[in-house]
Amino acid sequence: MDLLNTLVDKGLRRELPTREEALAVLATSDDELLDVVAAAGKVRRQWFGRRVKLNYLVNLKSGLCPEDCSYCSQRLGSKAEILKYTWLKPDEASAAAAAGIAGGAKRVCLVASGRGPTDRDVERVGKTIEAIKEQNEGVEVCACLGLLSDGQAERLKDAGADAYNHNLNTSEATYGQITKTHTYADRVDTVQKAHAAGLSACSGLIAGMGESDEDLVDVVFSLRELDPDSVPVNFLIPFEGTPLAKEWNLTPQRCLRILAMVRFVCPDVEVRLAGGREVHLRTMQPLALHLVNSIFLGDYLTSEGQAGQADLDMIADAGFTVEGAGTSSLPAHRADVAAATAAASAAAGHGPCGSAPAEAGCGSACGGCSGHTDTAEAAAEAAPAAPSQAEPGAVRPDLVAVRRRGAGTDLAPNA
Ligand code: SF4
Repeated sequence: MDLLNTLVDKGLRRELPTREEALAVLATSDDELLDVVAAAGKVRRQWFGRRVKLNYLVNLKSGLCPEDCSYCSQRLGSKAEILKYTWLKPDEASAAAAAGIAGGAKRVCLVASGRGPTDRDVERVGKTIEAIKEQNEGVEVCACLGLLSDGQAERLKDAGADAYNHNLNTSEATYGQITKTHTYADRVDTVQKAHAAGLSACSGLIAGMGESDEDLVDVVFSLRELDPDSVPVNFLIPFEGTPLAKEWNLTPQRCLRILAMVRFVCPDVEVRLAGGREVHLRTMQPLALHLVNSIFLGDYLTSEGQAGQADLDMIADAGFTVEGAGTSSLPAHRADVAAATAAASAAAGHGPCGSAPAEAGCGSACGGCSGHTDTAEAAAEAAPAAPSQAEPGAVRPDLVAVRRRGAGTDLAPNA
């Protein structure tokens, strides 16, 4: 296909495709799907080889959020019977993080529900970062605490944070239909604050919320303009008890096309397969490794992922390798930019306080903030029996399980 040859050439040159080309990827047929994956896979291998970066989520504070993000089980008025707890203590968070690191995670993502942190929360998270870094040399820590006020990104950086996640989630045009308590512009502002403070910016999207192809292309082009180092791609987990509970409109093929489009638009960026991969890609997950270079290990914030060992087996079986702590995730030219940004920030008085050098959500549905469901038992009661052969795009609440282990419980985490 001329389209795919053009997109590969552009991806290898880090050149932005046109909107029409990005839309055409989403419009390809099932007969063309393997060609699309192979083409985007060439771009993935050019910039990231066959490495897969593992990230591990620690939900520092779960539920009880005053915001109304429609996709989120932690939202105001959510009926989802998720775990609800207030801030984990630094040693509790550090113990949860250690399980993920032992499982091969290179980055720990510290997430807290809420509109945004108070200054006291930032201080508390700073102590948690310190505890994790003291016990796990070389680990990257990303904070995901919602909308940031002036000066908070710098304080997180000073406390040793390497990165900050805040997702755009969907296009500017549809944002108001998803959330009313804050705006798309608020989200952009927080990503820019993180960037300006010398933190590696992480910002992505949620697909499957009823958006059009144009919306998907809009949000991915907006992300390219914001230039984050990592782009998590979530697939909506339609939890009972949330307004989007009936939005089961993704197929594995659609998910692969979306991931390929993101890879073509953001060729040299860490594209992370995030919440919803098990639910929507199902047995097609290994094909997605040809498109993304990063995944979450184990469970999400409020829902369960597949077993951590199954993630590791899948990576090995598909012929990929887990990226080690000593390897730079990003291509040299992007790592250089990140280092230069951090140096500029340090020169401006926001030095990294002797912690690991920066490389290049929850406020924000980071990864599996999408862990949003009613109890597994309630879902099972309400759901029809699972069909023996899954229909593409079928309603499958049987695939969604609320997290009942790891952080905030007495049970061992899944890592
Ligand atoms: S996504 Fe974050 S800000 Fe929005 S409702 Fe969920 S926890 Fe609150």
